[in-house]
Amino acid sequence: MIMRAHLRLSAQILLIAAVAAIFFFHSACEAANELYAIRSWSSPSATRIVLDIKQRAAYKILTAQKPEHIIIELADFGGRVPAPTVPINDGIVKIVRASRTDSKTIRISIELEKPASTKVFQLEKFMDKPQRLAVDIIRQDLERADTVHREETRKLKQRDTRIVVIDPGHGGEDPGALSPHGTKEKDIVLSIARKTVQLLNKDAGIRAYLTRKSDYFIPLGSRINIAREYGADLFVSIHADSSFSSKPHGTSVYCLSPKGASSNTAQMLAQKENASDLIGGVPLDHTNDDLTAIIVDLVQTNTLNSSITCAGLLLREVGKVNTLRSDRPQQACFRVLRDPNIPSMLIETDFLSNPKKEKKLKSEEFQNCLAGAIAAAVTKYAYEVKPRPSAEPPPTEAAGKQPAPKKFLKEPPAKASREKPQKSSPQIHTVKKGETLNTIARKYHTTPGRLRALNGLTSARKLKAGMKLKVPAEAGNR
Ligand SMILES: [Zn+2]
Repeated sequence: MIMRAHLRLSAQILLIAAVAAIFFFHSACEAANELYAIRSWSSPSATRIVLDIKQRAAYKILTAQKPEHIIIELADFGGRVPAPTVPINDGIVKIVRASRTDSKTIRISIELEKPASTKVFQLEKFMDKPQRLAVDIIRQDLERADTVHREETRKLKQRDTRIVVIDPGHGGEDPGALSPHGTKEKDIVLSIARKTVQLLNKDAGIRAYLTRKSDYFIPLGSRINIAREYGADLFVSIHADSSFSSKPHGTSVYCLSPKGASSNTAQMLAQKENASDLIGGVPLDHTNDDLTAIIVDLVQTNTLNSSITCAGLLLREVGKVNTLRSDRPQQACFRVLRDPNIPSMLIETDFLSNPKKEKKLKSEEFQNCLAGAIAAAVTKYAYEVKPRPSAEPPPTEAAGKQPAPKKFLKEPPAKASREKPQKSSPQIHTVKKGETLNTIARKYHTTPGRLRALNGLTSARKLKAGMKLKVPAEAGNR
């Protein structure tokens, strides 16, 4: 009897447990989405908060009582909240708080330093990244200050100063190419770009700027806008490639193609690089651009010829420090090279999928060599291909008649990539003990950058007494 009662009780407990399990399973099914992580990226004028989630989210933005707060409610979210607080403190966002308001709703509260505008959009799954909800917090006052600074740089630039914009590809949510060991293209190219800018800025006649200064994403169109705002005379986008095979290696240099690509490889690469906006995350209202108008303009102007000439010089310089995949510039429809007025090129430094090259690309020494080669090519282009415009106003031919403004590197070379630089015959200087590039440059009324370019010197190479250096003839030893 006791035995039978005990069995009945056990059966009841099992039934209750089964009902509870079914109820729990039902609730879990109803709350279909999940929040895995909260991450952030900081740029000088915006913060991107990324919510890693299971699938596309249903959300609403609530009106906060204080303008320094943004509240987003995520609907149909089960599971646990990954972190109740995520401190950011980047001058734009103080802290992100996540909490559950009921069994199916998660509230994200973003506390700002100052009121700012917000863009919320979904980012689809990509490689190891799950579905994401991106929240861009944009400080328009800081954005405007950035733009004003760039435009003032452009207005203040002296007539003989060349403005070069160096663009490290990818950044933030978009890592670019990945090595099997996890080395990211975005980190390698940022490091090379910083070194290139440093080298270029040693030349008093050149001012170089970066499109991105640290690890955050900039849409491709915005990279061009930054170059325009600076009044760039030249735009160089730096990248590293990867392949399914570990064998490919070497550098390639690309320019825009107004028609098809110069090869299937070039076309595939352009598609890969153009996917950056998709991977990095661009709100829909940022993606329009009128390609047709730009291409027509490009054909009408000579920008492309200048780009190809500069790309040829770059190949010559990089060929001194690395293997080339082709000694001719390749062409394809790269979005980031589409400005109709700024000669632009893109360098794929080498392959991260090749273990030997990955190791080299990570090394300070090889990065310095690549930066030195890019800087030498840019400097050579500035000083050799076209005569340097005079700092003094050119003489007026007739009263009231304004001379046409001289534009740096805008005129077409006679034959694009095969053109030889118009060289003035240099004279030779024998380096004496204790002399540096700076002291020699001063002596010949020129700049260290020009001497480096004339002599194909990379920053890694030291001057030795007895070395013969070419010095510009037109400057002379006055
Ligand atoms: Zn890239």
